[in-house]
Amino acid sequence: MINRKSEYRKISIFGSTGSIGKSAINVIQNQINNSIKFQVQTLVAQNNYKLLAKQALELKPEFVVIAEEKYYQDLKSELSTLKNCQIMSGKDAVLEVARIKCDLMISAIVGIAGMLPTYLALEAGSNIALANKEAIVCAGDFLLNIAKKNNLKIFPIDSEHNAIFQIFEQENLSQISEIILTASGGPFFNSTKNFRDITLAEALKHPKWQMGNKISIDSATMMNKGLEMIEAYYFFPISKNNIKIIVHPQSIIHGIVNYNDGASLAMMSNPDMCVPISYVLNYPNRASINHQKLDLTKIGQLEFYEVDNKKFPAINLCRNALEQEGSALVALNCANEIAVEKFLKSEIRFDEIYMIVEKTLQKIPQKKLNSIAEILDFNQQVCEVASNIKT
Ligand code: NDP
Repeated sequence: MINRKSEYRKISIFGSTGSIGKSAINVIQNQINNSIKFQVQTLVAQNNYKLLAKQALELKPEFVVIAEEKYYQDLKSELSTLKNCQIMSGKDAVLEVARIKCDLMISAIVGIAGMLPTYLALEAGSNIALANKEAIVCAGDFLLNIAKKNNLKIFPIDSEHNAIFQIFEQENLSQISEIILTASGGPFFNSTKNFRDITLAEALKHPKWQMGNKISIDSATMMNKGLEMIEAYYFFPISKNNIKIIVHPQSIIHGIVNYNDGASLAMMSNPDMCVPISYVLNYPNRASINHQKLDLTKIGQLEFYEVDNKKFPAINLCRNALEQEGSALVALNCANEIAVEKFLKSEIRFDEIYMIVEKTLQKIPQKKLNSIAEILDFNQQVCEVASNIKT
């Protein structure tokens, strides 16, 4: 368990070249007078060997892994001057370094590819700072159980869950009536454009957050918020019906906890992922980081709206899958990953993302999944079905 006095933390960053990985490195490199010092133990990326090498030269980790084997030689030559660092490549190497214990593994690979490394890190005794929501959507019970067994923590990095984590009074659990996750609404909240005609460039242009491609599309469909509802169910001991979603276009309030005495606690910050990342890196301390001060007088107005479930069917698809739990969640996530990938390659229209998810869920029967290996096998089967869905 992480303790308050710890002055020195070994951090591993899985997905270091992505949006979350870069923000995490920004926090690590730019903390001001912080009592906790960080030593980066491992950096992992998939393709971007140039940025990975730059990060490694700056942070001097013990292990650097590029998942795509064809970049091994390039990475090695970029790092020819780096001492005491093991450079590795391939999927197995990603798993190998996940098994090396650290104080905190930042789980920021995108998609279900991040699930097994996260599980292995927990098995090895590492606490987790979880950005990779697909892992908890697909394997929530398995991750929570292994964390509990090994007396480890899984901290939420996702801004909404991180917000709730900061204001959720475990000691007053019976007095919590509901939690509310806010959604920016994405680029199409106010748009009257037919979803058939939405272009890739429009869908990638998020109004508030700078994120990787997959989560940007998930935000545009609002699938992201549905996945977050499932994530919240695993993170917080609260019934499914008491997890609510509201649209808040300014993205200043990230989460709200309503208590039975009429109090509603809300956590606010500018939309900047460095804020939740700093919180989990330093937990239970708080640190000083470079940030833009929140000035509500400049923002002026905070708005809140109901989600339009007709326009954005994703949340109901997620609610239905959450009702069933287990394999339905794996199928939901997998179908969405396949559909988003196809949309990113311009193989399908924007509205067809929902169709692929819905039709896949109709085709795939529920199945009891007893291990992480069974989840991965099942995911493979769903991938085949989802890839062949005709819209
Ligand atoms: P990005 O696409 O920006 O980054 C993904 C990272 O994972 C990259 O470093 C990528 O390497 C690496 N990667 C991808 N696949 C593999 C693989 N098979 N093996 C090893 N490394 C891999 O994504 P984001 O940072 O935006 O998101 C990461 C996760 O965090 C997602 O699950 C997302 O939902 C979640 N999240 C993101 C937020 C954000 O603000 N971005 C907010 C909240 C949650 P390479 O660059 O070389 O391809």
